[in-house]
Amino acid sequence: MPQLLDNLNPEQLAAVTLAPQHALILAGAGSGKTRVLTTRIAWLIQNGYCSPQGILAVTFTNKAAKEMLTRLSAMFPINTRGMWIGTFHGLCNRFLRAHHRDAGLPQLFQILDSGDQLASIKRLLKALNIDDEKFPPRELQHFINAQKEAGLRPAAVEAWDDYTRRRVELYTEYEAQCQREAVVDFPELLLRSYELLERNEPIRRHYQARFRHILVDEFQDTNRLQYKWLSLLADGGREGGASLFCVGDDDQSIYRFRGAEIGNMRDFERDFRVESVIRLEQNYRSHGNILDAANALIGHNTKRLGKNLWTDRGAGEPIRVYEAFTDSDEARWIVEEIQSLVRDGACRSDIALLYRSNAQSRVLEHQLFSSGVAYRVYGGLRFFERQEVKHALAYLRLIANPDDDTAFTRVVNFPTRGIGARSLEALQDAARTWNTPLYQTVPHLAGKPGAALGQFVALIERLRVETRDLPLHETVDHVIEMSGLRGHYQLEKEGQERLENLDELINAAANFSAEVGAGQAPGEAPSEPGSVLAEFLAHASLEAGDHQADAGSDAVQLMTVHAAKGLEFDVVFLSGLEEELFPHGNSTAEADGLEEERRLMYVAVTRARQRLYLSFTQGRMLHGQVRYNLRSRFLEEIPEPLTKWLTPPNPRRSYVSEPSPRYYNSGAGKPAAPSMPPPPPLRSRDLGGLAIGQAVNHPRFGDGVIIAAEGSGSDARVQVKFAEAGSKWLMLAVAKLTPAS
Ligand code: ATP
Ligand code: MG
Repeated sequence: MPQLLDNLNPEQLAAVTLAPQHALILAGAGSGKTRVLTTRIAWLIQNGYCSPQGILAVTFTNKAAKEMLTRLSAMFPINTRGMWIGTFHGLCNRFLRAHHRDAGLPQLFQILDSGDQLASIKRLLKALNIDDEKFPPRELQHFINAQKEAGLRPAAVEAWDDYTRRRVELYTEYEAQCQREAVVDFPELLLRSYELLERNEPIRRHYQARFRHILVDEFQDTNRLQYKWLSLLADGGREGGASLFCVGDDDQSIYRFRGAEIGNMRDFERDFRVESVIRLEQNYRSHGNILDAANALIGHNTKRLGKNLWTDRGAGEPIRVYEAFTDSDEARWIVEEIQSLVRDGACRSDIALLYRSNAQSRVLEHQLFSSGVAYRVYGGLRFFERQEVKHALAYLRLIANPDDDTAFTRVVNFPTRGIGARSLEALQDAARTWNTPLYQTVPHLAGKPGAALGQFVALIERLRVETRDLPLHETVDHVIEMSGLRGHYQLEKEGQERLENLDELINAAANFSAEVGAGQAPGEAPSEPGSVLAEFLAHASLEAGDHQADAGSDAVQLMTVHAAKGLEFDVVFLSGLEEELFPHGNSTAEADGLEEERRLMYVAVTRARQRLYLSFTQGRMLHGQVRYNLRSRFLEEIPEPLTKWLTPPNPRRSYVSEPSPRYYNSGAGKPAAPSMPPPPPLRSRDLGGLAIGQAVNHPRFGDGVIIAAEGSGSDARVQVKFAEAGSKWLMLAVAKLTPAS
């Protein structure tokens, strides 16, 4: 079909229309890799190379999977449900549900997200009476996940010292606990799928015959186990196996810490004897200045396969750089800038605020919220991770699977129903002795604890019966009501938002059933009773906050740089460009760590289509302390002619020059740094006769008060909080400030 291939450049066209074979598309950001992958799926189907059922496509996020399905349905009318398109986790979940018996799981097994997993590990340590200072739960979680991601069960882990041996034992105990409770954590989804495929020849043969084309986006970030899983599905590249089509960019490999292996690209070329490696070099996303900045930046990395991107879109605007005094000032400036962009006609949803660490979002959110700018956070505390939502989900999980001890512990006494810590301990001890899930242990518990807990079990049983024939959203509504959650939050002072989130959960359930119902492929088996609930619960564990704001609502998008991978926005604000923060303090000690941070920076810069703002602050609240960091070295790596400084560049604060004392005022609402020596006092002559705390007048902004100052001589700047215009940094030499009368 001609329209499908219109507008592709010759290299893209070659990639899309490659005769079925293994191929690697290695290309930089914004060069159309994802577009090529999506178009190829459509092309393969339209040209009869395979049916929709023969496609397996792996994306990196749920958002990307959804986008791909939308793009495909727009290209031509097909039922996309028959296709397997999703994240590794999503696809493995689907696979395990279909073969739960062979995988040794009940049909309604539950998924532990990483917060649940941590709770489960803590509970285990407690039950075993293990000192969690010696075995910090987070660290143990990391250890277990790393083993699973390397494909290792406890028996296969090599332990040379006592400490590791003990951790391996705990890994074994944790596995037993999960199995008992019929729950599966994220890495387990993958490992179990892999093992099942490996062990069960009929199932393996079935899928190897079914999937004719396996396509993988963001291939540079696959880990070892994921690669092995793909390889198994594609029959290791043997004659008659699926064609594996991978697209990636070594410069955007940003999950090394999670075990992603750039070596997979090399291995893929070798194992599958890849003959077609196609490179795409034209960038269609960003204006020239943005692209030049990205190229210059990544050019500082030494370990690269090497490529350069070009664009014919023209240089566009310069990259705007802003230096703020504190993180609150930075947030205030960003929000003012957004408001002015919106006034000039920009859509909020075309604007993204990116940051290196989740913790940075709080200040930004606060400012957006108090200025009434609609926003939406991806990642971070996702909708499905909010306390009240997790409580409601825990009730639902117990209805689906009473053996889920994590869910049981979460809500057995929430809202409070007089079940004390002692009763719970008695229950846990008994459960351990008899090796039974908590729920099943309750009826055998005598005395007062038994009675109170028995009422809880009776409540869950009643809810199960009452909701048996209800549609999903009514089930959710009923459970929120009858569990007492709604009543509880109605009484809570700050409960309004939580009630809204619970209502949003009911909406999410309604949308979910509508999607599932609409997507049912003809001839596909109807859902078994209870399975819609199980599917919804799996969706809740896998989904990253897609229901947080109404889909399509015009909201500014906030996310970490990691979460922004693959996405694009007209306007991007990248905040917090300070040493220690970005590059992250943990990473700079070793060259590999720094190169990974630089790739992350490259990902951030290349998200912008038209306008890019980079900002940094002099002082920032981090972990309860004000930190003073130099501006990020990455700023220095962007050639100066591409940038426009919105505040006067201060060479003394750059990473490349020696740090020099900085002038600042720790009063006026800014917490002083406890760990810093007191700043040199600002002399009034530095401020041309003005002083901090002084009331001043500006011909345009009106009356205000000086709240901070920095620099000296012709460089001196003051921050004035104006009654009407908010706070602004002004150059003393040019701003016509006069003492207010
Ligand atoms: P990333 O590395 O960030 O994931 P990518 O290589 O996957 O980027 P895409 O997201 O596929 O790039 O494409 C970037 C943008 O360029 C998209 O808006 C896409 O629609 C557009 N684009 C890609 N190819 C073309 C083309 N031939 N003509 C016009 N626009 C194109
Ligand atoms: Mg992409």
